Amino acid sequence: MEVKRSFYTTVNHPFEIDRVEEVACNLCERDRYRVTGIELDFEIRTCLNCGLVYVSPQPCADELPVFYAGMYADREVETVNARSLGHVERHLRSIVSRRRPEGGRLLDIGCGYGRFLGSLVDLPWSLTGTEISETAIAHVGETVPSATIHHGLIEDVEFEDGSFDAITLIAVLEHVKDPKATIARIAQWLAPGGLLLIQVPYIAPFIRVKRVLPFLPIHFEAPRHLYDFSPRTLPRYLKEAGFDDNRADIARPYSSVGPLGELLIWGVKAPGLALNALTGGRYIYPFASAIAVHGIKTR
Ligand SMILES: [Zn+2]
Repeated sequence: MEVKRSFYTTVNHPFEIDRVEEVACNLCERDRYRVTGIELDFEIRTCLNCGLVYVSPQPCADELPVFYAGMYADREVETVNARSLGHVERHLRSIVSRRRPEGGRLLDIGCGYGRFLGSLVDLPWSLTGTEISETAIAHVGETVPSATIHHGLIEDVEFEDGSFDAITLIAVLEHVKDPKATIARIAQWLAPGGLLLIQVPYIAPFIRVKRVLPFLPIHFEAPRHLYDFSPRTLPRYLKEAGFDDNRADIARPYSSVGPLGELLIWGVKAPGLALNALTGGRYIYPFASAIAVHGIKTR
């Protein structure tokens, strides 16, 4: 399978992928789907049974790093250096404070340049992170010296069962090959009563609209993004993994998109935030563009 050059992802060279694999729905394990879109020759499928949106065929795990080459090291550090607390961090910090005001031990998986960890330093949390970029880890060492960062993928790091009272994954779960196994693994690291907070893109409704409006400047980012979770599918993952009181919020836009991009995203989100407020947080409209789902471990 030859993968076409992408004008959007930071993979700027053509390359060939020899090893791809067909996958069934990760959530309900059925294999009945409709094709919602195609990006870089990868099909974006919607499960006809549970509604999970996923990429298939997917590159095999050892082929995936090609798609990340040179991605993170240069791009984020500029925006991080501004040291300003963005909308995303403020919003997630408010969720953590509301759901777990007493604090405790927090693990941020894929902590990047430590923006979110840095936003928590004045709260009663001891801070731990995991990250694959050594450049990013060095940066966190300077900016959030109280945090302990472990190098590696989720599968590479080891923690004792019940080591944490909160675990956060911000823009991580859409990248992993097996979200169900990932959630099961990290759930073990949480103590009973612990908070799991996951922020992910919610792009599939835009991809559907794009079939009739192909000029829409929005992309699934396949195959770096392998899944697109919704306010229905992600809480179901949490429920099946033993989490209760699971809620979904509309995520806030990243400041790094620039003032114009930010204005545009707020504009798209505004009706959703209004409807969300009017329904007491129950309604998440399809053009939220990203969601934050959180629940409490009960077993
Ligand atoms: Zn399914």
